[in-house]
Amino acid sequence: MNPPRDIGACSVATDTRGPRAALERGGVAVAGREWWMDVRFATSAAPGRPNEDLVLAGNDFLILLDGVTSPPHVPTGCTHDPVWLVRTLGAALAQRLSAPGTRPLTEVLADAIAAVRAAHGGTCDLSHPESPSSTVVLLRERPDLVDYLVLCDSALVLVGPGGEISRVVTDDRTAAMRGLTRAEVAGWRNRRGGFWVASTDPDAAREALTGALPRVPTTSVFACTDGISRLVDHYGYSWREVIDLAAAGPMRGVVHAVRAAESHGPPPGSRKQHDDATAALCTFLD
Ligand SMILES: [Mg+2]
Ligand SMILES: [Zn+2]
Repeated sequence: MNPPRDIGACSVATDTRGPRAALERGGVAVAGREWWMDVRFATSAAPGRPNEDLVLAGNDFLILLDGVTSPPHVPTGCTHDPVWLVRTLGAALAQRLSAPGTRPLTEVLADAIAAVRAAHGGTCDLSHPESPSSTVVLLRERPDLVDYLVLCDSALVLVGPGGEISRVVTDDRTAAMRGLTRAEVAGWRNRRGGFWVASTDPDAAREALTGALPRVPTTSVFACTDGISRLVDHYGYSWREVIDLAAAGPMRGVVHAVRAAESHGPPPGSRKQHDDATAALCTFLD
């Protein structure tokens, strides 16, 4: 079994002398202000498999991706695998989120999907319904707001300054796919009435759930792939318990909770006993 990688605490702080002086409010640099985005995350591959999840943190952004597994017998029309997809998409997103400005996250994602499309390099059938794909969670910190984006079945939990859960953001359009065959699900991919995921169609970005929350000190945001949210969806945990576990110690504790639950059997209705499991907690501080 691959051990979870726990990155520990990774905080980024600057004042107006640092690179984040580029963060502006109404075109005017926020003078003399110091702010922190404290990020902790852990990621763990399903035992015996490559990790098709990816998490990347930057000075003022977080990217969390879950590449969709393609069984070896299923044609994809593509020479690339889900690991390539999440690494290429992650790099394209990080590059765009590192650029100056605050373009809408849907535009950032659409642009990154277009870049990934080009990176297939003409060797692949980009209209194939099984072309590699990924869920997407994005967070971007601004002086007064935190922008978020969720596409497909990864989850985002917004936690207010008093520790209260203010909102759980989940894109539940894949829930309607339960009970369908893999081919049927592929037929509903990136189609109105179906579900949307980052693959070869930049227009999928427009279907993402987006919003912003006030950037108030001690507000935090928890993001995870469905390898973690199965704790809530299938194993009887509440989001409160997951958030408390994430806040209490190393993030690998959340992964260990999933693996312990899975040791008794796969989630009801799923043949997948284990999944890649990735969790991140961003806390905004002054
Ligand atoms: Mg997953
Ligand atoms: Zn390809």
